[in-house]
Order: sequence, then C-alpha cells, then structure tokens
Amino acid sequence: MLTCDHYLMPASLDEVFALMDEHRGGRYRLVAGCTDVVPWARPARADDVHYPALIDLTRVSELNGVELRGGRVHLGANTTFQEFLEDAFLRRQLPVKRHCAAWFADDQIRRQATLGGNLVNASPAADGAPPMLAMDSAVVLISRKNGARQQRILPLTEFIIGPAETRLEEGEVLMAIECDSMHGYGGAFKKVGHRRSLVISVACAAILVKVDETRRRFADARVALGGIGPVPVRAVEIEQHLQGKPITLEAIEAAADLSIGHVQSRTRQDYRREVTRNFVVDAIVEALGDAGVNVDGRGGEPAPMSPALGGMGREPAGIRGDR
Ligand SMILES: Cc1cc2nc3c(=O)[nH]c(=O)nc-3n(C[C@H](O)[C@H](O)[C@H](O)COP(=O)(O)OP(=O)(O)OC[C@H]3O[C@@H](n4cnc5c(N)ncnc54)[C@H](O)[C@@H]3O)c2cc1C
Repeated sequence: MLTCDHYLMPASLDEVFALMDEHRGGRYRLVAGCTDVVPWARPARADDVHYPALIDLTRVSELNGVELRGGRVHLGANTTFQEFLEDAFLRRQLPVKRHCAAWFADDQIRRQATLGGNLVNASPAADGAPPMLAMDSAVVLISRKNGARQQRILPLTEFIIGPAETRLEEGEVLMAIECDSMHGYGGAFKKVGHRRSLVISVACAAILVKVDETRRRFADARVALGGIGPVPVRAVEIEQHLQGKPITLEAIEAAADLSIGHVQSRTRQDYRREVTRNFVVDAIVEALGDAGVNVDGRGGEPAPMSPALGGMGREPAGIRGDR
C-alpha cells in the first residue's frame, strides 16, 4: 500500500519547488493522477511504500492547458487522456490521440491519468508514448537552482531510455510536452493485450497519414510502435517508404514488412511480429479512411469503435484466439 505523512497540493510551480527543497533526498514523490503510483505499491511489485510527502501536481496551473504556437502544440503535463477524446481542439490538432485515448483504460482512469505521468512512468506498454513519438514530441523539463528557474527541452526519443527509466533528474518537473500540429492528417491507433478490457498493450501502433492534393499519393506518414521492445520506437524507414508513393494496398503491405525488424521483445516474438505487421497495414488503411481516402475498397470506413467511442470494438487483425 502507498502511504504518506503529508499529501500536499501546491497551486504553483514555485510552491512545488519549495516543497521539493523541503523534502529533498528521496523524501518526496511527485504524483498526478496516481493511476501508476498507487497500483505500483502492492505485493509482487513495490509492496508497501511510504513517503514523508506526496506532492500532487494536479492543481499546478503552469502544468495545465493546451495551445498552438507556431505549428507546434503545447500540452501541459497534466493533460488527461479523457481530454484527447473530448476536447475539440485536441481532436483536430492531434487526430491520432483520440483513437489512442479511446482504447486507454476506462472512463474513470482516463479522467485521472495524465500524459505527463504516462511518459515519466515509461512503461514499455504505455499507450501514450507511440503517438507522441510519431508527432515529433519533445518534453519541457523545469527545475529551480539557487532561486532561478532552469528549463531543458529534450526530444522524446532521448527522454525515455528504458523500461521505467527516463532522463528526468532529481528536482525536475515535467512541465509540458510539445509536438507537431497534425491538423489535416488522418489518424489511427491499434492495440492488443491479454484481455478485452483494461488492456495493457502487448503491441500497439500509432499512425498518421497525409495525402497529397491528387488524393492518390502519400504526402507524409508518421509511424510509431510500442510494447515490442524496451522503449517505444519511431519507424522512420516505414515513413520514408510511404512518402510520395501511390496509395495502394501493395505499397502499404511492403511498408508494413519493414516493421518486423523493430520487434525486440524476448517473449512471443513470432506472435508480436505478425501482430505488428498486421497492425501497421490496418492502421494505415484506417488512418487513410480517417482522411477520407478509400484503399482498394478497404478504407473510407470509420475507424473501429471502442467502448469509449460508443461501440464494442472490432477484433484486431492477426490476433484471433490469442486472448
Ligand atoms: C486500471 C488501469 C488501467 C490502465 N490502462 C492503461 C492503458 O490502457 N494504457 C496505458 O498506457 N496506461 C494505462 N494505465 C496506466 C496509467 O493510467 C497511465 O500510465 C497514466 O497515464 C499515468 O498517469 P498518472 O497521472 O496517473 O501518473 P502518476 O501515477 O501520478 O505518476 C506516474 C509517474 O510519473 C511521475 N510524474 C507524474 N507527473 C509528473 C510530472 N509532471 N513531472 C514529473 N514526474 C511526474 C510520478 O512521480 C510517477 O513516477 C492504467 C492504469 C490503471 C490503474
């Protein structure tokens, strides 16, 4: 169980830094939605954990809010997964995130779970990371030394360095995540795990596509994969393969073949390779459908409905009978 002497709810970063100073030397833990930290303090994981201070970041105004600045979207670290489903600005600017959020946990957890917590927790199965990688994200880290604020901006590819390992330093807070605006792209997210609901990803794929003015060729593609190695990966070679290509199922399948090399997990390798390749094919077709383009009669259909979007969920390709 997770216990503390003091549960603290600062309202500003200055208050957070003062509390961190007061409890430095491992005597505090930052928390946001607590949806990773609370279940972590249980038998077979961290067991009982006690902190003199838990510093809750959810009321810190500088960690809230979203805005567009010069083609980049700035997301406060406290942005919740529910916001990606409901917020019209986020649905328009980041079309892949609503598909990711639709498959994320359940209504209750989505309202608590923050993007910041998901990235700092750095689980190989985290669903929040692949879409952010695909959108060229960077994290904004803030600290205070000798009374002066210091800020570091790191590409997400450099921030997450292993399972549960990031380059966040003692005394730093993840303030925001910035990423490309993907307005005009179609998005899709595919995920599979060991059960039907509240699924932890065994593999997931996040895809964004933009078509050119003829609507017959790929103008751009963004592809990232999760759950298949120690860290999520951006599949740049798939993106390059699709760039400028005519939109055909053959081109999509050839691009998806390139995903196989990314599967590094030591367990269930053949299964993960097959699922990942099929996910990439299906997700590109669905993302094209999201952008209003039909592929050989397969696209143009609505993306599969998860319970969060009001449907029961379509069986992902290649995994029938595996759950
Ligand atoms: C039932 C259930 C279902 C779930 N389903 C999914 C799922 O489908 N997909 C998925 O990816 N995850 C899932 N999760 C995991 C979890 O909900 C997410 O990882 C969530 O985004 C974590 O965010 P949080 O705000 O709750 O983080 P917290 O638990 O509060 O914190 C997580 C870590 O981040 C640190 N932290 C938080 N905010 C900051 C900050 N601003 N700066 C520095 N450090 C910070 C904390 O110190 C801690 O180490 C599930 C969890 C539960 C309990």
